[in-house]
Amino acid sequence: MPRAPFRRKSGAREANTLLRLAEGLASSKSRAEDVFWEHELQMVVLQHLENADEEAINRALDRAHDAPDATFDALADLVESLAESMIVPSEAGAQRVTLFCAPILVWGRSKIPTRTIPKPQLQNIEVQLSAHIFSSKAKIAVVDYLFAPDQLPRSYSASHELLQLLADCIRERRHLTMPPETLEEAPDVVCDMRMIIGAFQVAEGEPFYAWQEMTTPVEESRLSSLNVWRTQGGNAIKPLLVGFPHELVLPRTFFAACREADLASRAYSIGASVSFLEAVAGTPPERLVATIGGCWGKGLEEYRIGFSIGDSDEVVHGCVWPLVSDEDDDTPVTEEIESLLRAANVGTIVQLDEQLPLEFCDDCGAPHFPNREGEMLHAHLPDEANGGTMHLH
Ligand SMILES: [Zn+2]
Repeated sequence: MPRAPFRRKSGAREANTLLRLAEGLASSKSRAEDVFWEHELQMVVLQHLENADEEAINRALDRAHDAPDATFDALADLVESLAESMIVPSEAGAQRVTLFCAPILVWGRSKIPTRTIPKPQLQNIEVQLSAHIFSSKAKIAVVDYLFAPDQLPRSYSASHELLQLLADCIRERRHLTMPPETLEEAPDVVCDMRMIIGAFQVAEGEPFYAWQEMTTPVEESRLSSLNVWRTQGGNAIKPLLVGFPHELVLPRTFFAACREADLASRAYSIGASVSFLEAVAGTPPERLVATIGGCWGKGLEEYRIGFSIGDSDEVVHGCVWPLVSDEDDDTPVTEEIESLLRAANVGTIVQLDEQLPLEFCDDCGAPHFPNREGEMLHAHLPDEANGGTMHLH
């Protein structure tokens, strides 16, 4: 007799176990006790990841927000590290394989490409990563695709699965081919990110990065790696983004690189918006009025910057500056936004004191941006602009 497929219930019990172990780790007072909790927690998390069963992990993470301090970070750090990094046995001893991301901040007057990376460019990118970012002993494999953030693995277990595929590639000394038809369409926005994804392998305990092998102070070493990556890696990446101004962010382990790129993109999008307006509307930055307003949901959630031209109150373009977890209305974010606008030579900067609503367009979902009167408006480029991607209604 056919049976209904067995469906796992809710994952509530598993979430309790995860939460108990994470609380243990977060409240441990010694490195020796940490080791115990970490080991226990690792076994449980890994099991969930390998079974592609994230329900319990996500529930535990949700509940960890209300648990004692540091519980969430203890659990999230461990889940991320197990999703992006693993040990594989080999004849040469245990090898650690770790997922990495090389982010690129980019803007454009037309749709920013996502695309298969042709083999010669992929090899060139791999050579530059090996030479300037990863340690001299690291072996790497790269996915042959220039990803948009929306095309990256969406779950911890999907990230872990990609890691496993790349570990096979490293062993077999080949690239990972990504069939573009399996990826969803990236949104068409003025300023975005693109990512190169891969994995590196080192013997357990060996350094990951080039800057770990240098004898100069760490920050200095890391900066020198970034600078060489920007020039040499930049030359390798340039043919993929012809006509699209871009800037490289330091490649790192997957989750850390994605977070750093998110932060860096906030600042990048300000300068990019000014350059965009100059390019498509022919507006010199001095004629721009930028209005900074804080948008409130439950609390202050993000700043929105509306751009207008001259005396007009119409908003021609805008950018969003989302706040991250440890930022609130006491963080000096507006000073940072102002100094970026000034550095981009924006003529007039207005800062609104009122709490603005988190408004979006009912038709297209685009955020509304403030003008200097504090009205939240849909951004529309002036008629004469040849944006090509505009959306009028
Ligand atoms: Zn709209």
